[in-house]
Amino acid sequence: MRITIYLNFMINQVLEKSGRATLLLFLFLNCSPCFAQSERIDVGILSGKKITRLLVAPVSDVYSVFAGDSLLTLIKRNDALSLTLMNDSVEVKTIAQTFGTFKRVQIMALSKQASLKIKPADGKTETHLDNDLFINPGKNSLTIINHADLDNYVAGVVEAETGYSAPEEYYKIQAIMCRTFAIESKGKHKADGYDLCDREHCQVFKGRNNRKPEIKLAVAATSGIVLVDSTNKPIFAAYHSNCGGQTDYSENVWKTEKSYLKPVVDTFCISSRNANWQKIISLHDWEKYLVKQNKEYIKPADSLYCFYQPERKSDYNLFGSKISLTQVRKDFKLSSTYFHIEQDADNIIFTGRGLGHGVGLCQQGAIEMARKGYSYKKILGYYYKGVRLVNYSQTRN
Ligand SMILES: [Zn+2]
Ligand SMILES: [Zn+2]
Repeated sequence: MRITIYLNFMINQVLEKSGRATLLLFLFLNCSPCFAQSERIDVGILSGKKITRLLVAPVSDVYSVFAGDSLLTLIKRNDALSLTLMNDSVEVKTIAQTFGTFKRVQIMALSKQASLKIKPADGKTETHLDNDLFINPGKNSLTIINHADLDNYVAGVVEAETGYSAPEEYYKIQAIMCRTFAIESKGKHKADGYDLCDREHCQVFKGRNNRKPEIKLAVAATSGIVLVDSTNKPIFAAYHSNCGGQTDYSENVWKTEKSYLKPVVDTFCISSRNANWQKIISLHDWEKYLVKQNKEYIKPADSLYCFYQPERKSDYNLFGSKISLTQVRKDFKLSSTYFHIEQDADNIIFTGRGLGHGVGLCQQGAIEMARKGYSYKKILGYYYKGVRLVNYSQTRN
């Protein structure tokens, strides 16, 4: 691999220039793991933010800084690197030296365990990242890419998407869903120069999993495992907070039918935090909304707005007004599409169940199942029908 050549070159250079024996010894002791790279993913960090100057500092181990094929320098703990957007290039500086401006900067870890922190020069929040960092000049901002081991990325996503109070078995479920999503969606942001962004648009990723060692263990215990459908393709592993007692058809939300995303009756989540909600709006606003949706709409005299969903439906269909429930949810910022409507004098009362789109795995239901002792395999099979668990190397992408 290319890094082998660089490593030899770099060691010679360090010997010639500084004779830093300790650093050299460190390189020899630590270089071997970086040759055995596992599956990598490129994640856009602080994506959507305008960042023109970034500070980078290793937390552990040593990093080599490359611009294209040239080694610029080595940085280690307590060193700091400054990267500034200059038109269509990136200027690279340390406190002691300015190296010039470049089209692409790669900050490469010399061991698998290495991590670094980044901070926008005008911001307060630091982001702690594993593995390598690539910096490209974007139009008005630096493009920051974490070139990370898939499992390190998955652990960070599980921490951001799940929090800290779930049982250990549940972290395995979340790890498999996040890994499956990553494999299924790899390259989604090809035009931006990376695979996935770090926002809700793809999966929330706030950096390295630091606070919950159980997450790392769950990711390691399920390493490489993804969910596939009957054609051996990684599934679209949709999940949501709480289904309210029944999950939904994928076509009700995204217009695309998936054999494994069908309604499941779920009694495990109905006592959870997000199981019930209510929202009241004025009758005037509701009628105005219906007219806006359908100009022909005329409400029959003395009729009440009552709409019930003993089972999940796809549309609100009353007095000739047909609107998708997904649209109603979006327009009134409702917690879910699983609601009844009743009228009380001049008010419309939405009484709903669940939180989120309702398709696929219900997180609060799955957490409850895990607490009751169900295995991660059983729980995944409960929410995703007819799927199998395989190593991603056996999948058809
Ligand atoms: Zn995205
Ligand atoms: Zn549920």
